[in-house]
Amino acid sequence: MATIKPIEGRSVHQIQSGQVIVDLQSVCKELVENSIDAGATSVEVRFRNNGLDAIEVQDNGGGIAPDDYETIALKHYTSKLSSYDDLSSLQTFGFRGEALSSLCALSNFHIVTARPVDGPRGTKLEFEQSGKLKATSVVAAKQGTTVVVESLFHNLPVRRKELEKNLKREYNKVLQLLNAYACISVGVKFSVSNLVPKGKKTIAFSTNSNANTKDNISNVYGAKTITALIPLNLAFELDPSGRPGATQSARNWSTQDDSGSRTVKLVGHISRPVVGEGRLTPDRQMFFVNSRPCNLPQVAKAINEVYKSYNVTQSPFIFADIQLDTNAYDVNVSPDKRTIMLHDQTALLESLKEALSQLFEGHDQSVPQAHPS
Ligand code: ADP
Ligand code: MG
Repeated sequence: MATIKPIEGRSVHQIQSGQVIVDLQSVCKELVENSIDAGATSVEVRFRNNGLDAIEVQDNGGGIAPDDYETIALKHYTSKLSSYDDLSSLQTFGFRGEALSSLCALSNFHIVTARPVDGPRGTKLEFEQSGKLKATSVVAAKQGTTVVVESLFHNLPVRRKELEKNLKREYNKVLQLLNAYACISVGVKFSVSNLVPKGKKTIAFSTNSNANTKDNISNVYGAKTITALIPLNLAFELDPSGRPGATQSARNWSTQDDSGSRTVKLVGHISRPVVGEGRLTPDRQMFFVNSRPCNLPQVAKAINEVYKSYNVTQSPFIFADIQLDTNAYDVNVSPDKRTIMLHDQTALLESLKEALSQLFEGHDQSVPQAHPS
């Protein structure tokens, strides 16, 4: 008798979902990204009991069309990508159609959505664990979409217990991630609040609909933070003749179109390279690739190293967006898309360090200057 058999569909769904939604942070990441992808200019994240009881994300984006109700939470159903070839020109955060289906499998989940044509009428959508639409009902709602995730991991006892045990730490991790989305999202108003049991609602942070990232940072971290920062606005080519290894790999980048850009930009804000203007711990460091928040440990290390040669006692505040050709990196590396593979990272890091050193060299390190906030 054959011993190799397929795992039944429901179990496969639960196994895969547990890789997409690994913690509180991934829930918020997926929902906030969906709101921004839907064109929202306002995103409100509401936690109940630090997320243990519920996480709600409300936006004022385009809403969901009735024709999509049946499929919205099915695995690999997405409005953003139809074939693998589209991935390199992707403009949205999402593309795999996995988040909502995974949340159905791992929480008590529902959506309320309304489009401008629906007036004050919205629709509540309820789903089965498989992502199949279970029921719809008419409710009062403002334009946009609210996604409600209750009792996360109720059916994964180990994860639920871990979440309960580390709740404060998990919640703080979520706030850090939301800070990054709020700071990078120009023109989007963010509001994040938490309602503790038998307590009152507290606002964790909020931003206005600012026209630039500097004002977002000021809203999130306080106006004083800004005064210790200098703008990052670096550009470098990745195929300078003579740099070992760089010419070859830079050529690989633009296989589709040889006029494709090989220029990499590093845009953002960083602490002035002056003792007293950094931070005691590296707790305020955010990295992005083409505005997508992600983990870039090697880039972080490189920037911190250069900074340390000017201010050995402190770590910098870093808000760094690496802007480069979409052919030059791959976001499809890990289920949560936080890990990004940068093509020819070694050459990129070398050039980045050099450009950053030049910026710091040109900066007056002895006399602290007043910066307008
Ligand atoms: P993906 O983002 O990869 O497409 P998701 O499972 O996160 O996959 O979402 C599935 C689809 O549901 C999206 O492609 C989008 O069309 C729709 N959707 C999800 N969230 C929202 C939202 N907040 N507003 C409007 N549409 C949404
Ligand atoms: Mg998504």
